[in-house]
Amino acid sequence: MFRKRKRKLNELTDSEYQVEWQRMIEDHLRKRDIRDPRVLEAMSAVPRHRFVSEEHRHLAYVDGPLPIGCGQTISQPYIVALMTQMLNLKGGENVLEVGTGSGYQAAILGQLARQVYTIERHASLAQQAESVLQSLGYQNVHVVVGDGSLGLPDKAPFQAIIVTAAAPKVPQVLLDQLDQDGRLVIPVGGPSYQLLERWYRQGDQFVSEELTPVAFVPLRGKWGWKNEGW
Ligand code: SAM
Repeated sequence: MFRKRKRKLNELTDSEYQVEWQRMIEDHLRKRDIRDPRVLEAMSAVPRHRFVSEEHRHLAYVDGPLPIGCGQTISQPYIVALMTQMLNLKGGENVLEVGTGSGYQAAILGQLARQVYTIERHASLAQQAESVLQSLGYQNVHVVVGDGSLGLPDKAPFQAIIVTAAAPKVPQVLLDQLDQDGRLVIPVGGPSYQLLERWYRQGDQFVSEELTPVAFVPLRGKWGWKNEGW
């Protein structure tokens, strides 16, 4: 005789995550200040549980960051939505993401822009992200291993750049890869305090605004934090 084994949350099928997923959209995004319908649609289309390990899958739709290996994290869903909304994507953009991590933010961008280049310094994270993105059918998202603090000059100009790790200051080399009217969203600061900044290119000028306090892992590489600083 069969005894039915009780399944854990990390054994659910995609459609069985729908309740938690929908709750994330309503309670953590729509009830706050995520208003762009395209961003809400993208957050409803990308299965966050596919970008986290089995161990953490039951927490995939909780509004917080989760470990993804190499001491790194997948960002909080609200912050992913907020930064994406700040990029004001319309669909035709060439976008650069610095800090692929799990690939989740890149998938959201892939829903909203024409081409997405995403750079990760840890080869193992890049490989894992690429395999999830491929399994979900994203042909417009390209994962690159390297130092994203330098940008990706051979794929520039970008209409939008998003950096998902905290920089000591905005790297000029990234601003230089922005197209006219391009925008760059980046957390700036150190371990104790960071602010999300949005920069725009207007001719040869760059204007910036400071948005909201955030908590990201450090940007490394040439224009990132050196270990002794953070
Ligand atoms: N966007 C990611 C996601 O959706 O899962 C989360 C990114 S995690 C908060 C920050 C990532 O930036 C880490 O994976 C880290 O290895 C990466 N990173 C830090 N400095 C980097 C650099 N100079 N170049 C490329 N990636 C970098």
